[in-house]
Amino acid sequence: MNWQGIVGHEGQKRGMERILKKGRLGQAYLFTGPSGVGKKRFAKTLCASLLCLKQGRTPELGPCGDCESCALCERDSHPDLLTVSKPEEKSEFPVKLMNEFRLLFYLKPMVSSRKVALLDDADFLNQESANSFLKTLEEPPPGMVLFLIGERTEKQLQTVLSRCQQIPFSPLSPTEMDRVIDDEVLKKPEWKWAKWASVGSIGSAKAMANSPFWAIMERVLRLLGRQSKIDATLADDLVKLAESAGDTGAFQRPLILDFLRALSRIVSHLMVPNHSGDPGEYSHQPFVNDLKHSFSRNKILRLLETLGNSGEQVERFIPLALGMAWLAEEIHQIAEA
Ligand SMILES: [Zn+2]
Repeated sequence: MNWQGIVGHEGQKRGMERILKKGRLGQAYLFTGPSGVGKKRFAKTLCASLLCLKQGRTPELGPCGDCESCALCERDSHPDLLTVSKPEEKSEFPVKLMNEFRLLFYLKPMVSSRKVALLDDADFLNQESANSFLKTLEEPPPGMVLFLIGERTEKQLQTVLSRCQQIPFSPLSPTEMDRVIDDEVLKKPEWKWAKWASVGSIGSAKAMANSPFWAIMERVLRLLGRQSKIDATLADDLVKLAESAGDTGAFQRPLILDFLRALSRIVSHLMVPNHSGDPGEYSHQPFVNDLKHSFSRNKILRLLETLGNSGEQVERFIPLALGMAWLAEEIHQIAEA
């Protein structure tokens, strides 16, 4: 775990470095920005720096990498690094979980000179679960620092926002994304498309480049352009696509959301050729070109609405198999309309 492994976010690194140098470390920070750009990795490296046993009174940006604390951080098992995230099966943080989490803050550090806490999925704190630790957020035990990680600023509670210093993170540039990907993937045409469709999220781009993502995208686009016959396996294939991301919904849902977003961007581009977010080389695929001629404005609008609704279902934790069956049926109907 070190800063060399973190690509991009130079401004945030320099900002944190200045804060540490001046000994002005706050007690609570909220990192916001698109998922998959490296916020959590950034926060974890920062936590490792603060916990490192080789650090003096004013810690520097960068863990030593070989003390006991650094080894524990590397293995994700540091007893003074408290982490919590929303349980996969819940749509919000349960207040009981937050109460339990808060109690841990008051135990003495076991390895390092302080405790640090990392709360992921801050977008899913509700008023009740947030209230249970607002006081701690305001006045944590001495030396303790809390890092909250969320995606959208507008999803954060005012009570949380007002108690944290917010640090926004931006999407990665295409060049930065190229720097973190294996040479083998870098050469694939799928990587170029994934890079475009992921809008600067390296997490999304990796998932899109390493799955049947584009084969299914082609299938849906051909279906919509009526270049292929309707068959009953589309829903199953969408579920298989989700499963290619991992065993649990925590991995599967983001990939389906990425798929819906990428399809929306391609389709929006058909309606407004100069639509910002040019699908680049992907629009030169013959089946995309054909769609340009055969797809009416009404169909495009209907499809965009369907994709938006499908995304909402996925975000509301409707079982994926049901959601994908609904989406496949809608796509068939739009294709036939
Ligand atoms: Zn260390």
